[in-house]
Amino acid sequence: VTGPIGFVGLGNMGAPMCECLARGGHALRLFDLDGDKRRAVAEATGGTPVDSLAELPRGCQLVITMLPDSPVVEAAVLGTADSPGLVAGLEPGAVVVDMSSCAPLRTVALGDRLAEHGIAMVDAPVSGGVPRARSGKLAIMAGGDPDQVARVRPVLQAMGTLLEAGPLGAGHAAKALNNFVSAAGLAAACEAVNIARRFGIEGQRMTDILNASTGRNNSTENKLAQYILNHDYGSGFALSLMAKDLTTASDLAAELGLDTPTLETSVKLWAQARAQLPADADHTEIARLSEPKDG
Ligand code: NAD
Repeated sequence: VTGPIGFVGLGNMGAPMCECLARGGHALRLFDLDGDKRRAVAEATGGTPVDSLAELPRGCQLVITMLPDSPVVEAAVLGTADSPGLVAGLEPGAVVVDMSSCAPLRTVALGDRLAEHGIAMVDAPVSGGVPRARSGKLAIMAGGDPDQVARVRPVLQAMGTLLEAGPLGAGHAAKALNNFVSAAGLAAACEAVNIARRFGIEGQRMTDILNASTGRNNSTENKLAQYILNHDYGSGFALSLMAKDLTTASDLAAELGLDTPTLETSVKLWAQARAQLPADADHTEIARLSEPKDG
């Protein structure tokens, strides 16, 4: 891929990912619904802010999306009754790489729609959160035609390490399954610490014990002390987005006819958290559900 890269979705993840691309020497064309974010990321990266999705792909062989979910990605790519999408500006032969966490079967359908226009699609969702988006050390799980994945690999590697998951949609499937494991591990860690505190073991002490023992996981290492015990809850990953990922995993299991009781319990727990907590709650606030009521 040569020339500028189009990037749509300049939020918690998209903004630092653009900075990695700029550090890698890539020129950027930038769009977000939020004009302040367009200007801020343009300033940080030297990229060009553009005013519409149809205009964004001009001169771009590759456009990356980093948006909340499948419905938003579909609207941005295909357009809506009110406004044209990326497809109005993409040239045949271009490739769209969706790095959002989306629903795999919807991704396959979107890839079919793009193929009608001679445009390729790769799904390449990421794991590692805002800290690893900043450092360019994301895990990137790619799905799609191997030639298209090979074509975009050098660009994606500016943001992290690329792991090939399989055909189109496989990246999104792998991402939802990863977040199921991550969400269940986080909820278990929070419940364990809250029980420990109630018993009289200080939260940090219990965290240290978990981290020296077999209960250690990414949440015990990188979330309990950093965001939860101090009530900071500032990880930059919304609870609503995690709940979406669990629903994606559960829909996939249902589609495949599998019985997955741990996943179903997780879906219910995170849906309950979503209903009880403010709409903009961070995912680390799942800890609040099991907190001792008297502090
Ligand atoms: P975010 O809400 O911070 O950013 C989304 C951005 O998309 C916002 O800037 C918003 O203005 C913009 N947007 C929404 N609708 C739009 C539209 N129609 N056109 C143009 N722009 C639009 O979300 P995020 O945390 O950056 O997450 C993005 C994706 O990455 C999600 O799918 C999420 O599940 C996934 N993800 C997030 C994290 C994390 O730690 N935050 C980690 C891994 C994956």
